[in-house]
Amino acid sequence: MSAEEAGTVPAGGFSGVAAGMRTRYCGELRADDDGAQVALCGWVDRRREHGEHLAFVDVRDRTGVVQCVVDGAADLRSEYVVRVTGTVRHRPEGTANPVLPTGEVEVGDCEVEVLARAEPPPFPVDDRRDVDETLRLRHRYVDLRRDRLQRNLRLRARVNSALRRSMEGHGFVEVETPMLIASTPEGARDFVVPSRLSPGAFYALPQSPQLFKQLCMVGGLDRYYQIARCLRDEDLRADRQFEFMQLDMEASFVGQEEVLTFVSDAVADATEAVTGVRPAQMGRITWRDALDRYGSDKPDTRFGLELVELTPVFAGTGFNAFKAPCVKGIRVPGGASTTRNQLDSLTDSAKRWGAKGLVWMKVEPDGTLTSPVAKFLSEPEQVGIRASLAAEPGDLLLLVADEWLRTCHVLGLVRLALGRPPVNEGGHHFLWVVDFPLFEAIGDDGRPVPAHHPFTMPHDDDWELLAGEGEALLAVRSQAYDLTLNGWELGSGSVRIHRPDVQRRIFALLGIGEEEASAKFGFLLDAFRYGAPPHAGFAFGIDRLAALLAGEENIREVIAFPKTQSGTDPLTGAPTPIDPAQLTELGLRVLPR
Ligand code: ASP
Repeated sequence: MSAEEAGTVPAGGFSGVAAGMRTRYCGELRADDDGAQVALCGWVDRRREHGEHLAFVDVRDRTGVVQCVVDGAADLRSEYVVRVTGTVRHRPEGTANPVLPTGEVEVGDCEVEVLARAEPPPFPVDDRRDVDETLRLRHRYVDLRRDRLQRNLRLRARVNSALRRSMEGHGFVEVETPMLIASTPEGARDFVVPSRLSPGAFYALPQSPQLFKQLCMVGGLDRYYQIARCLRDEDLRADRQFEFMQLDMEASFVGQEEVLTFVSDAVADATEAVTGVRPAQMGRITWRDALDRYGSDKPDTRFGLELVELTPVFAGTGFNAFKAPCVKGIRVPGGASTTRNQLDSLTDSAKRWGAKGLVWMKVEPDGTLTSPVAKFLSEPEQVGIRASLAAEPGDLLLLVADEWLRTCHVLGLVRLALGRPPVNEGGHHFLWVVDFPLFEAIGDDGRPVPAHHPFTMPHDDDWELLAGEGEALLAVRSQAYDLTLNGWELGSGSVRIHRPDVQRRIFALLGIGEEEASAKFGFLLDAFRYGAPPHAGFAFGIDRLAALLAGEENIREVIAFPKTQSGTDPLTGAPTPIDPAQLTELGLRVLPR
């Protein structure tokens, strides 16, 4: 790949940019440059002695490395910062390095100026070795020099730039919303900032720009977007950091269809900008079907192993374990060779995930089922299982019986454990999940818990169901939708409630009284009294999109300065205690732990 193809140097160089101390970048030199006088700047990558005085010094910059032949390089060490002037020439016959893009040339007659000396780096600046994560983060500036992060951060920049172009192409206006705000209703814990001028009062850092973007719609901006920093004080995971970036958008006088189009376009543009391939038309599945078939509201559709409905097979069963509201199964083709140990450990996992058990069956060459529970199953039930699952000799069948949601959930996790491909295999499967329920559960207080946020519009066909109570409310669908990619939730959005009377009704259902509503969201409800257009929006995580496009399991690999799993920054030491004087000024006292 050329430096240009790799996106490191634009065709024709960086136009309009003063060359500064250099005339060319290391990684862009090719056989065509034979004879060119060049000045290069970068870091000493490696030095190999060549005879008594001569040395090959690989010089590295953001575009790659090139070999420089240096006379008297004795005091050049790895990671020294140098400026090298010399002449590009073909490498002698038989010494070209086909692996290196600059491998046909070298720079000869070199003069080297040391711009900065360097201590030996805490770990080698190449990708060949795994380095301890904390060490990498502690010296992130060295880690950033490595190919992987150079590549990932540039990929991420291309994602951002494609997203901006796409949104602007659809007439979206970039608006920056504040960081010091009152709490937002995304349902996570807030990070708070004490106010010096109002001791005892706190700002919250935004969990999202949700309320502000809705205010932008009332304010007539019509189409808003922002590459927004959001902060949520939740446990960190491979796909979650305290702070993350999202492409946040909102539009007026549109519904779900238009939002899905805007977002699909933006994500497809970003994917194409990075991979060169435009993803296929994004599929769509309802929340209910996603659970029924994949056992997840973020299905990984890169592989099969779909869940199969078996409830009717056991309608009149005498086997207690299958006398459940829902029985489902998975067929694992050729899985009969799975060992007893593996099956036991899968069963243990299923129990940890909430199932009472996991029933396994092996299909013998003559079609009969071998299973610890086979003797409890009638002949018609065994026939029903085989037929429903389209079982073949040599297959393994796995069954769970429980409440619908739990059955789906557990088998969904079993499915992932058995079949999920590595993150960088199987292409990019985007999938919209629509018709989410309005409420995700009924809380201990008997009140429904919103599945998205409390501004989400109920589904047009489900208004009557809203009059119900308790569990019946769980059947109410909403106009909320998620975008998923390879089993990761990229983002969520919804059509919003724009009428104060409807909003009041939903607040009442959620148990948010007039007083609480006006204390928390009074300004939004007030705004709605002055003419709110119908509006809808979405937000998706750029860290997650960039990670998946880069083929990385962990979003830390596409973030320049991430936190560790425990939320600390080994580089700066954050979080750190603050001065007693600062505490006093803020009117705060820290309680002993
Ligand atoms: N504010 C939501 C979130 O950050 C997204 C949206 O509804 O637009 O998840």
